[in-house]
Amino acid sequence: MPTQKFFPTQIHTASLQGAGWRKFNNRLLQECLQLSVDDTAGQRWSQQNYPGGYTSYSSVPRMHTLSPTFESLQKQLNRHVRSFVRKLELDTDDRPLVMTDCWVNIMPRHVVHGLHLHPLSTISGTYYVQTPKGSPGIKFEDPRLDRFMAAPPRRPDARRENKPWVILPAQAGSLVLFESWLRHEVAPNPIESERISISFNYGWF
Ligand code: FE
Repeated sequence: MPTQKFFPTQIHTASLQGAGWRKFNNRLLQECLQLSVDDTAGQRWSQQNYPGGYTSYSSVPRMHTLSPTFESLQKQLNRHVRSFVRKLELDTDDRPLVMTDCWVNIMPRHVVHGLHLHPLSTISGTYYVQTPKGSPGIKFEDPRLDRFMAAPPRRPDARRENKPWVILPAQAGSLVLFESWLRHEVAPNPIESERISISFNYGWF
């Protein structure tokens, strides 16, 4: 092979397995909805920073330490993070990655989650709780976009791995993991029903 590939950007997607996931997911859903009603500090913060939506990012960012249901989610996510770390061949022998943050996002119609990355973390991700048909996926951007210089645009029919961005569908009961430096966004939710997700960070210091 004269042309080789180096420096891959790896993204891990999986489903929460086990026969009881629907029941478990429903418990998470109820807790997300209840939190959005009770968390007045989060409602105020969201008005300023997440117009039309609700996030506990600023007010209740460590749900895994408060709720046994979220703690159980953390344990299930730990397995996936370990497997992703193996794939990335990160050496975490002396400093295992631990969940540092875990928060709720509720996106009603027209709410957008602008382009961002997760500073001060190693692995980040999202677990999808409620994704009504037509709700947007997560869009990842090629981390080298700022170095493209005089690069011509990609052909419209380019293979997915060569495109400057990719959208992965959001599916209730599934999760996505990525390295925290990878920029991502969620387009405005075009439908009436709420798109509900739980985002989280893992770090080693
Ligand atoms: Fe994010």
